[in-house]
Amino acid sequence: MLFALPAYAVDLSGNFVQGGLVIGQVETGSTVTLDGKAVKVAANGAFVFGFGRNAQAQSTVQVTRPDGTVETQNLTIVPQKYKVQRIDGLPKRKVTPNPADVARIKADNSKIWAVRGSMTPETRFLSRFQWPVKGPISGVFGSQRILNGKPKSPHNGTDIAAPRGTNIVAPADGVIVLVHQDMFYTGKTLMIDHGLGLTSVYAHMDGISVVEGQVVKQGHVIGIVGKTGRTTGPHLHWGLTWKGVHLDPMQATGPMPKG
Ligand SMILES: [Zn+2]
Repeated sequence: MLFALPAYAVDLSGNFVQGGLVIGQVETGSTVTLDGKAVKVAANGAFVFGFGRNAQAQSTVQVTRPDGTVETQNLTIVPQKYKVQRIDGLPKRKVTPNPADVARIKADNSKIWAVRGSMTPETRFLSRFQWPVKGPISGVFGSQRILNGKPKSPHNGTDIAAPRGTNIVAPADGVIVLVHQDMFYTGKTLMIDHGLGLTSVYAHMDGISVVEGQVVKQGHVIGIVGKTGRTTGPHLHWGLTWKGVHLDPMQATGPMPKG
């Protein structure tokens, strides 16, 4: 048959796992829902979504084509086993902030969450993701953190240990949307918008070599590894968030390459 129709109206790539990122493609003009909620589809038919740390075991993607026909795909989401990570020896003030610090943290968070709440129409995430730094994974997504003996919210990114000054590259195409020289927890902090509500954050940097508004391609050097903010040693904290839902960056890149 010369003009075989695709078996599915929806093409999904990614890991159906807690913290997983999924990139999809549908016929232009289709609409998509995930568990009954609308997912924004770009003019080129691309879309993106993700599963949070505690995502339920089943999800449903529904595509309505321009001709009104509907296709439903049920997804089984693999659960992750989360570690408990104890970190001791942090400065007391970085674990139990004083009132002035609390005000600073609030200001930092409002800037970070303004970016995470944005929805731009680009599909720069179609470059797919690579590791921004290569090195040992020193902190995994979703682990329950106990800092100086106090239980804190789960770790919402991946930590990669690397010497101070190691280049950090953009893991995917995007636009630099936040550059901050001194956030309370995250020190020198950078955020990239990859489009359709998918953003990433880079923390504890020693230097930032891009500016807000700059468009970067995958592999472009955005700064260097440091130990600014709340950290016990030099590493990159890399976070990935879709519409306010934290995702596991490691699920977007695949395993760390050897060597
Ligand atoms: Zn981290």
